[in-house]
Amino acid sequence: MKLGIRGKLFLTSLFLVLVVILSTGIYLASAMGEWLESRIASQLQTHATTGRSMVQAIPDKLTKNNVDPVADLLGRDTQSRITVIAKDGTVMGDSRLDGKGLLMVENHGMRPEVLLAHKKGLGISKRFSNTLRIFMLYIAIPYDHPGGGTGVVRAAMSVEEVSQIQSRMRWIIFLAGLISVIIAISMAALSAHLTTRTLRQVLKDAQKRAEKIGIKTVDRSDNDEIHGLIVSVGIIVEELEKTLGELAGERSRLEAVLEGMDDGVVALDQDFKVTLINRSAQSMLDISGKQRGRKLHEIIKAPHLDDLLNSALSRENRTSQCLECTWQKSAQQYRIMINLIPMRDQPGWILVFHDVTEIRRLESVRQDFVANVSHELRTPISVVQANSQTLLNGAIRDEKYAPVLIEAIERNAQRLTAIISDLLELSLLEVKQDPLNTEKINLLHVVEGSLDLVMEAFEDKKLKIQVSIPNNLHIQANLGALNKVLNNLLDNAVKYNSNEATIKIRAIESENFVKIEVEDNGSGISKEHQTRVFERFYRVDTGRSRKMGGTGLGLSLVKHLVEKMGGEVGLDSLKPNGCLFWFTIPRYY
Ligand code: ADP
Repeated sequence: MKLGIRGKLFLTSLFLVLVVILSTGIYLASAMGEWLESRIASQLQTHATTGRSMVQAIPDKLTKNNVDPVADLLGRDTQSRITVIAKDGTVMGDSRLDGKGLLMVENHGMRPEVLLAHKKGLGISKRFSNTLRIFMLYIAIPYDHPGGGTGVVRAAMSVEEVSQIQSRMRWIIFLAGLISVIIAISMAALSAHLTTRTLRQVLKDAQKRAEKIGIKTVDRSDNDEIHGLIVSVGIIVEELEKTLGELAGERSRLEAVLEGMDDGVVALDQDFKVTLINRSAQSMLDISGKQRGRKLHEIIKAPHLDDLLNSALSRENRTSQCLECTWQKSAQQYRIMINLIPMRDQPGWILVFHDVTEIRRLESVRQDFVANVSHELRTPISVVQANSQTLLNGAIRDEKYAPVLIEAIERNAQRLTAIISDLLELSLLEVKQDPLNTEKINLLHVVEGSLDLVMEAFEDKKLKIQVSIPNNLHIQANLGALNKVLNNLLDNAVKYNSNEATIKIRAIESENFVKIEVEDNGSGISKEHQTRVFERFYRVDTGRSRKMGGTGLGLSLVKHLVEKMGGEVGLDSLKPNGCLFWFTIPRYY
């Protein structure tokens, strides 16, 4: 049978109460009996001693006639039985026997207390009195009468009283036991009720919480609440361990995802303290070390970004927001878009930082490109339109003016063709993902071929040329692309250098590449334009470039072509003037 906590508590307390009451009761009953008997014994001894003095004080020779009245007197005064027994056992006097009885009473010489008194001077015995038919306690002490005659004086008292007291004690103990059992039952019931109420509450609470997070516990109707609690706690602990394990796995997966993200992610609690930050966010915000637990404004070094975030985060209505700002990091400007997302179930925030520098740059390049293309095309088209209109309106018959107009149409048509073919080539290069086909090329031969094409223009401007390229230097390049690159650079050298400038063409060999430099000592390009001259339509001096027939696409084409051959391009400014364009091409082995 399964006992509930109530039953267990009741049985335990009942057992304890019974053990305590029984042991105390038994001990008390026997101690009380002994104490009473010892008191009666000492009283009897006093009575016997008094009896002895009175017997010894009888002036005449001792006879039944003078001894019995002494025994009667003393027995009446002390409420005990006083017996005077001569040495031979003859009862000389007895307070409970009259004269007739005294004659008939048997010899008391062999009574144990009498024998003991004669032998040791004091005789005690507790036994059933045949004379009085009750249990008695006897004390006997010897006397020695001066008139000759010895014997014992015996005092006796019923010990029925002791038995009565002991049986009364047993009743009291029984009653006390009964009352204690009732109290024990009530106490056990009360304490069990109080304990189980708390336990049931704890159990219910634990089960409720466990069920809330999807953990199924044991049946609540279980008899033993503690057992139920232990089983429930065991299940909860087991499930929690499982859940914690799953959560740890989830967390490490999440951390791996966060760490692998290009976007920066920062999680904040309600006090704007960082609870999570990934590597990208640390790199974007230019911070390192332990950031968790620190306030956002403590880790963000830029006051404007901090202000921006503060005002966004402290808005009354917690809705997702998107901010964009410029961010200076190690001498470079970044454009950062920040998404602020309020957490759904808690008061914190998630901040996602996207680096939109490149997107914004491309957007502005695209906008510039569209504006530039339309602008570049509009001018020659307008010339063509206007001139053909004028011709149609009659200027065609003007022998002097007509050729000028037609020549302008021809020139602008060529310009349109040049722009469109450059644009086409550029877009083809952009669309084509694969590198260009390359072959073994003697660099000096290609450079000389390109120089031939511009030789006339070089001579017109009296430009000096210095070429230092070894004859046997071979590179791995695409011939057509290499020609276009060199033509563009040499063409620019002619266009943007004044008369008698010097153009130097060099080849510098390294382990895997050959660096080809085209240096001039012309007007040069200032620093702010240097990074942009490779963009489409970017020109330092638009007017001058147009006048020179430039499309603004040459260097952009150069960059694309070189990169498609596996090299790089660059521009260094020279002091006091001039510039140095360079590009690298893989060596041929
Ligand atoms: P463009 O058709 O205008 O020459 P490019 O793309 O070839 O276009 O060159 C871009 C701009 O770079 C030019 O407009 C010019 O301002 C500048 N540039 C190119 N080469 C030189 C040079 N050697 N010296 C000075 N400026 C140059």
